[in-house]
Amino acid sequence: MEHRDLSEADPEVHEALENEMERQEKEGLEMIASENFVPKQILQAQGSILTNKYAEGYPGKRYYAGCKYHDEIEDLARDRAREIFGAYHVNVQPHSGSQANFAAYFSVLEAGDKILGPVLSHGGHLTHGHHVNFSGELFDFDTYSINEETERFEKEDIIKAAKEHDPDLIVCGYSAYPRKINFSAFREAANEADAILMCDIAHISGLVAAGEHPSPFPECDIVTTTTHKSIRGARGGMILCKEEYGDQVDKALFPFSQGGPLMHQIAGKAVCFREAMKPEFKDYAKQIKKNTKALAEGLRREDLKMVSGGTDNHLVLVDLREEEVTGKEAEEALEDVNIIVNKNMVPHDPESPRITSGIRIGTPALTTRGMEEDMLEKIGEMIGKVVNSPEDEALKDEVHENVSELLEEFELYENSGVRY
Ligand SMILES: *Cc1c(COP(=O)(O)O)cnc(C)c1O
Repeated sequence: MEHRDLSEADPEVHEALENEMERQEKEGLEMIASENFVPKQILQAQGSILTNKYAEGYPGKRYYAGCKYHDEIEDLARDRAREIFGAYHVNVQPHSGSQANFAAYFSVLEAGDKILGPVLSHGGHLTHGHHVNFSGELFDFDTYSINEETERFEKEDIIKAAKEHDPDLIVCGYSAYPRKINFSAFREAANEADAILMCDIAHISGLVAAGEHPSPFPECDIVTTTTHKSIRGARGGMILCKEEYGDQVDKALFPFSQGGPLMHQIAGKAVCFREAMKPEFKDYAKQIKKNTKALAEGLRREDLKMVSGGTDNHLVLVDLREEEVTGKEAEEALEDVNIIVNKNMVPHDPESPRITSGIRIGTPALTTRGMEEDMLEKIGEMIGKVVNSPEDEALKDEVHENVSELLEEFELYENSGVRY
């Protein structure tokens, strides 16, 4: 076998990677709420020789020989996650958040069982019952809604929906909800229906890990997450649960829904959890929340409305229903000035999911880059100005210039030895 540097062995892939490095560093203020930048030590674990080996099964119970070091690594990941989240049992093998949800549902349900989930345009994920997803196809979903007045999930509404629909499982946790989740309200609702309570903390797991969002335990029975959003780790998923669900969760993941684990990704998760236990990560999570509040302040100054009026976490959802622009147009105008956000449905959205009347804006990635409140407030104002006058080219040139200066000032991987 011949070992060559990627630049020689595959110039096409190499060039695309070089270009992507340039894009991440210089070509956009990354404000997609689900994205982040991982440190070099995580990239190193992911790009490792662990990719060479099959390790079907779990530590101490593998279906292949030679898994001694794989066991060590998976145990490190599991033990660290257990400690961080106060969970009894952890499965770090899901290839993604969606895979984690698939296995979590099937650990306690059969196809056709009833799940109560959020109305999808009120913040839910595809795996919470969308008809184009396995969840909508295989389970019988009913929904609970955001409160018309407060634009939050309120206890009375959840309990009412649980009584009315009598689900086998209730799912909480969202992709576009700017407020704290009230786990005790969901527990009461689950008790009313004698249902299992599952929470999907894909977006907020970094805040939960740092104690900056309440823990889903002990109220929730099963908790799923991604490991690459606010927790800033290797791309993948994870399931955490109470003791009584441990065996079922493991079986539903392997062999029911996956084969061999991606051990290089699991090594990246282990390194991520070590990072997340440090005081510096707690400071990072605190800064995310401060930055998002500052961003909201900047948007408010430009008279933009936000769903629920503001934020308790890492994101805001701008409600454009009363504005001239749609979500799609706002996303495009912002992309013109190198501010990267995504269009998103808002509650009671009159537009289709391809157009929408909202934009979702998050701060985890910019907080990783080192930006603080003064910058985020300024960025909020810039976003507000562009959304209010998307055709004003002089304004857009000026904002574009300001964005380039910020990207220059807050470097990402430069001088860190990271190539890609
Ligand atoms: C991102 C997300 C997921 C899915 O994660 P993938 O790794 O993209 O499959 C699941 N649930 C919620 C709430 C999410 O935001």
